[in-house]
Amino acid sequence: MGKVAVITGGARGIGKAIADAMKKEGITVHIIDISEGDWFVGDVGDKDTLERFAENVIKSSGHVDYLINNALPIMKGINDCSYEEFTYALQVGVTAPFYLTQLLMPYFAEGASVINIASSRDRMSQPQTESYTAAKGGIASLTHAMAISLAGKARVNSISPGWIDTTGSDITGADAYQQPVGRVGKPEDIASMVMYLCSDKAGFITGENICIDGGMTRQMIYHGEHGWRLE
Ligand code: NAD
Repeated sequence: MGKVAVITGGARGIGKAIADAMKKEGITVHIIDISEGDWFVGDVGDKDTLERFAENVIKSSGHVDYLINNALPIMKGINDCSYEEFTYALQVGVTAPFYLTQLLMPYFAEGASVINIASSRDRMSQPQTESYTAAKGGIASLTHAMAISLAGKARVNSISPGWIDTTGSDITGADAYQQPVGRVGKPEDIASMVMYLCSDKAGFITGENICIDGGMTRQMIYHGEHGWRLE
């Protein structure tokens, strides 16, 4: 039986890198994305759209091996984020991963794997990022809850990327070396962990979060040390 993957927000950026890596392995990939293109076009924040998409996936492939919840929630801060915008961020970032998993789980094949794309912002923040950060905290916790509920049916893990450049730019200088590894991340850094977590090699890993941020969240910052200065 051929392997089947479902990727939300797979038209560009990290989602596209994951889709490309999967296709390279001969996996059939179903993408839903809000942008126009050669995939299922729709908003994962909408319940009916998720139901139509899930039906479409099952009609065409019959089962699912890998579900990658990756679509990007909006980032708005407490000063100007409306009730509706905050709710929408949670619909895209938390409710959609929950509901799509619920819709597809009766069709999960043996050895199925769900990967939720969180963010290092699930544990640290800049000002005025409440809608996004709350969504990322939510998806990180949703991951371990689903890992326990789906035990024996699917492994469920999350990845928390740090700064991943999705524009293909050559980022140098302080922007690069502020990360302990000395560079900004690439979409492929995330795609390769997705491929590992989906593989049998990761068969003992579930409910786990893996932060891929070049060491950024592990670094202690003190004014005046190691080139860090508070101006
Ligand atoms: P991106 O903007 O390059 O791609 C996001 C994709 O999601 C786009 O194709 C977009 O059309 C689609 N999308 C957005 N809203 C949607 C919706 N409501 N329904 C369906 N599709 C929708 O973003 P990216 O940087 O590749 O981000 C991918 C994931 O990685 C996101 O969950 C993001 O929060 C996470 N992430 C990214 C970074 C980073 O630095 N790039 C860091 C941490 C986490």
